[in-house]
Amino acid sequence: MKRPHVLVIPFPTQGHIIPLLDLSLSLASRGLALTLLTTPGNEPLLRPLLSTASSQNLFIQSLILPLPPPPPPPPPHNETQLLIHSLPHLIYSLEGLADPLEQWLLQQKLDESSDEFGPVICIISDFFLGWTQDTATKLGIPRIVFCPSGAFAFSVISSVWKYMPHLGVESDEGEVSIPGFPHPLTLRKFQLSPLAQVYKSSDPVHEFIKYIMNLNLQSWGTLINTFYSLETPYVDHLRTVSGRPVWSVGPLLPPAVFHHKQKQEMNPQRGNPNSINEALCLQWLDGRKERSVVYVCFGSMAILSEKQNEEIAAGLEASEESFIWVIRDNGNAKVGLEERVKKKGLVIRGWAPQLLILSHPSVGCFVTHCGWNSTLESISLGIPMIAWPLTADQHSDALLLVEYLRVAVRLCEGLNAVPNRDMLASAVKRVVGGEGEEGLRVQELSRAAREAVKQGGSSSSNLEDFVTCIRNLAPDKL
Ligand code: UDP
Repeated sequence: MKRPHVLVIPFPTQGHIIPLLDLSLSLASRGLALTLLTTPGNEPLLRPLLSTASSQNLFIQSLILPLPPPPPPPPPHNETQLLIHSLPHLIYSLEGLADPLEQWLLQQKLDESSDEFGPVICIISDFFLGWTQDTATKLGIPRIVFCPSGAFAFSVISSVWKYMPHLGVESDEGEVSIPGFPHPLTLRKFQLSPLAQVYKSSDPVHEFIKYIMNLNLQSWGTLINTFYSLETPYVDHLRTVSGRPVWSVGPLLPPAVFHHKQKQEMNPQRGNPNSINEALCLQWLDGRKERSVVYVCFGSMAILSEKQNEEIAAGLEASEESFIWVIRDNGNAKVGLEERVKKKGLVIRGWAPQLLILSHPSVGCFVTHCGWNSTLESISLGIPMIAWPLTADQHSDALLLVEYLRVAVRLCEGLNAVPNRDMLASAVKRVVGGEGEEGLRVQELSRAAREAVKQGGSSSSNLEDFVTCIRNLAPDKL
């Protein structure tokens, strides 16, 4: 039996790919056949999903298309900036997939050999792959934008690329008001996406990014990783400005998170391989009091300086609470740190089983860079946050968390900020344990997240509605 066939194109960084793979699993389990496109270098990122799909008899296949090597990015100032500086070039280089993708789509349309995979009837692609809109339009295939950011942040991003309100604002601290936002909103220039901050009309890479971000507005619709009651005005706003459907289908997380399944099922290889034995990590957490552990992690990309790490270590020590601290290591974090903090702290150098840790009853607060996935994970699991937004959409997320949702307190902001150790210690004392305002509010939102994803809830209904729309696209209404 041929199934409705959807081509899914993730943007190959962890924060973008993890939620889209979770969504892909949900769509396949609702009877769609999926092809996931990536490049040879990123193929390992798809493997865990492909093996889960095959063990559950779901129809997910990969399409690996080669890409010419990207041009070298400009020299960075530090390691995190290396990733940020290379981002425009990564976004630009992926457009090299447009021709081979078009060829594949044309050939695939004629291919009758598969029993399950009919012709592609729709493309779901990340918002950094706006060029896929041109391919889709050319071939008459509807394209859906996948938005890994929240609705508040995506409203800011869309407005900034449309109106470029920061052009002419010289200083990083200069005020930028965001046009057409659901309510008055002024940000500092440094709080905008670095892709927009560095924009120069004379630079072809920057012009390309502006072009593709605006192409997203022409899509057939948007799938966004949020839930309606969390960001109601901003989801409504996106629907109004695009004039197209916006399906809020989050939080996109493994179902085990919401079903109190076995702890081990919580984290079926999400992202990179874990740098710690999961059983040891759980054993360490089992030995701590309920809601007493501070979890510190700044996402998949950020590498902090020695000075920043030193203040974190001192602040955690001064708080006198137990902690798990994830360090993306480049040798900056001092050798001997583990020894120094071993009475109270567990240091994970590399990749932590984050969902497993956040799901443990001993965890009582999350010191986070406010990446949207980390944010949704913390909210879903009812953990109040201490916010240190570094870059990208994290400043918008932190604003939402601190000012509007009131589930986080702010520590500091920006890639170059050095947190004050006393402020960190007092933020931990205020937030850990969950008795304060942030803890109570986040429990309410955690309940709302669970409501959204359960059968009949807003995200679950939106997903069903989306699948129905896709089925209706199939020529013979499969
Ligand atoms: N993550 C993880 N272990 C780590 C670091 C990150 O499992 O050591 C996961 C985390 O759970 C989240 C994603 O990687 O799902 C990071 O996405 P986020 O949007 O929070 O931040 P980004 O990495 O994009 O800055």
